[in-house]
Amino acid sequence: MSPDKYIKNYINGALVPAISGAYINNINPATGKVYSHIPDSDAEDVQRAYEAAERAFPQWSKLGIQKRFRILNRLADIIEQNLEAFAKAESIDSGKPLRNAMTIDIPRAHQNIRFFATAILHFSSESHHMEGNAINFTLRQPIGVVGCISPWNLPLYLFTWKIAPALATGNCVVAKPSEVTPMTAYLLAQACTEAGLPPGVLNIVHGRGPKAGQHIVEHPKIKAISFTGGTNTGKHIAATAAPMFKKLSLELGGKNPNIIFADCDFDKMIATTLKSSFSNNGQICLCGSRVYVERSIYDRFKEELVKRTQSLEVGDPANSLTDMGAMVSESHMEKVMSYVKLAVEEGGTILCGGEKVNMKAPFDEGYFMRPTVIEGLPYNCRTNQEEIFGPVVTISPFDTEEEALEYANSTDYGLSSTIWTSDISRANRMAEAIHAGIVWVNCWLLRDLRTPFGGVKNSGVGREGGLEALRFFTEPKNVCIKY
Ligand code: NDP
Repeated sequence: MSPDKYIKNYINGALVPAISGAYINNINPATGKVYSHIPDSDAEDVQRAYEAAERAFPQWSKLGIQKRFRILNRLADIIEQNLEAFAKAESIDSGKPLRNAMTIDIPRAHQNIRFFATAILHFSSESHHMEGNAINFTLRQPIGVVGCISPWNLPLYLFTWKIAPALATGNCVVAKPSEVTPMTAYLLAQACTEAGLPPGVLNIVHGRGPKAGQHIVEHPKIKAISFTGGTNTGKHIAATAAPMFKKLSLELGGKNPNIIFADCDFDKMIATTLKSSFSNNGQICLCGSRVYVERSIYDRFKEELVKRTQSLEVGDPANSLTDMGAMVSESHMEKVMSYVKLAVEEGGTILCGGEKVNMKAPFDEGYFMRPTVIEGLPYNCRTNQEEIFGPVVTISPFDTEEEALEYANSTDYGLSSTIWTSDISRANRMAEAIHAGIVWVNCWLLRDLRTPFGGVKNSGVGREGGLEALRFFTEPKNVCIKY
């Protein structure tokens, strides 16, 4: 697998430039310098990708689950064998520490593919017997050509999370990674060739969201869209695709509460809260950005969180001692910094961070920011209601369970939530009442790939993961036989 100065689309099994020949600059966020170029694809490229997928569909969908399993499993092996090459590419492209890419992003990418490669071997459908009369059974058939669109925060991790179940169930795919982090999708294309994936089964079109992405969503024959990204983009995609009666899975933004009761295991809680606040520079949709702490331990919590946050090492993503690398782009860093300014305007106090980091060359033009803890804000201010998606958390005390719940449920989002308590009844009460698709009790980001994944309210529509993904990418058809 080798990164390239000129990334190519992957269409019909071949690595090709955009038909227009146009390119977009790809920036290394740690240096702020252009280091490669990606195809600026448009409708014609999407159309070619669609046609290749359509041609490949009859054979791929009828290949049988054993053969599809073997090819996908080989693909997972190739990613695993090239862990370092993939991880280096991911780290350079996104600014995240190489250590994280080596231990989280790339391992999850090959686990995703292996998980769905094997899941299809165990996938079964239902039958419904009408005694003495008839038998119904459900056929679960692939949809055809489907579109997968993913964001920049966990590039290969989320790209494979969509593509793997789509392919395993027998669909052919037109996919677009974020233009901000295209490199590992390019390496994946190379790996697909090595794994023997038939031409046209997976097509990767690089380029801008509103152009290449929009053409995928608008394409009249692409029958389902699996999208992960921002809530506003999701709204736009739904408005485009819903009148065309496309199947839609939308995994969108979050503003996740982290609720800490005084009876929790303090040491475990504080170590995990540091991670849930600042992992991947807070650029994980599941990060807990609003931290509510029972008043009796608030001061102790505040002191410890600030101390640990200040000790996080921000710097060169390739250095093994780095905890936090660069933010993904200049515009994203500016957006996050604007929220720090807003928090101050809204009456918040910055306890630590809140500023950019001045780095030495070659990182002096990179996008580095100090992890930031803010207190003193009401639960209903904009800083506590809008998604920031950066290394910024707010902390606030609460007095009762009811109050914590009111704060937690006050936003338009409902992706995930974390509860820290040793009272099992309270944990269950909170889990039941909280508006979120995912509830973690005394842990964070512990993922079993079989579980349903997704959000409520403005955090999305539909669920991914396990059977939910296999069901999304298949069309159920009831067959009723009278006897
Ligand atoms: P965006 O919504 O900006 O982009 C997501 C993807 O959609 C990118 O590939 C983008 O392309 C593409 N895109 C943009 N506009 C269109 C369009 N009109 N039609 C089709 N595709 C389009 O999100 P970000 O990349 O900024 O990612 C961050 C967001 O993702 C956060 O809100 C975060 O919460 C959310 N997220 C949600 C997760 C979940 O599971 N719920 C998981 C991870 C992130 P391009 O980048 O090239 O513009």
